[in-house]
Amino acid sequence: MAFRLFIATTSQGKLRDFRTAAAASSLSIEPLPKLSKIPAPDENGATFAANATLKAVYYSRFASGELVLADDSGLEVDALSGAPGVRSARFAADAGLVDSPDANDNTDVWNNMVLLQRLAAVPAARRTARYRCVLVTARDGQPVHTAEGAVEGLILDGPRGTGGFGYDPLFFLPELDRTMAELDLETKYSLSHRGRAFAALLHMLKP
Ligand code: IMP
Repeated sequence: MAFRLFIATTSQGKLRDFRTAAAASSLSIEPLPKLSKIPAPDENGATFAANATLKAVYYSRFASGELVLADDSGLEVDALSGAPGVRSARFAADAGLVDSPDANDNTDVWNNMVLLQRLAAVPAARRTARYRCVLVTARDGQPVHTAEGAVEGLILDGPRGTGGFGYDPLFFLPELDRTMAELDLETKYSLSHRGRAFAALLHMLKP
């Protein structure tokens, strides 16, 4: 059964991940029309689920009758009591190093620098972390589905790899002996927090 999902994200990295997902399923995935013209809502929720829900509900009002997908995701580092968490995109901005996150600037580089700085005194064995992703769909201002995914890893003391985005060069997967930035898109997607959340969502969409 074919479903059309509109995706409300301006992140090129996430779009790439979702397109990889779409290629492996019968789902038709399209960017929400005119997304760049819609003022972004305040992502002020305390949890990934709260932020994903508020975005899905908000953006669904701009595509009457359609199922609209929004996500929220980020990195939780145990030695930092779960930080940066919902502040992952704004870690360096919160530290006063950059003005605001912007897909075209070096926000990722600054965020990674802050992470390395905060973990400088933490030994390798205690640098456990996970990426989390929550996906929420909504239609006409009402939430419909919620799906979650996570992937466990360790934060390295220096970057490795050139793929991915965000914290990927520092996020090490011990079983694969690779960072997320050293994986091809299909492999990353098959085990990533976003891939797992998307697989759970697909399961819910099945009749
Ligand atoms: P969001 O756009 O509010 O979901 O913030 C997500 C932030 O978490 C991104 O800007 C990245 O810093 C980080 N993040 C989430 N997913 C990933 C991923 O798959 N790789 C690397 N960083 C990620």
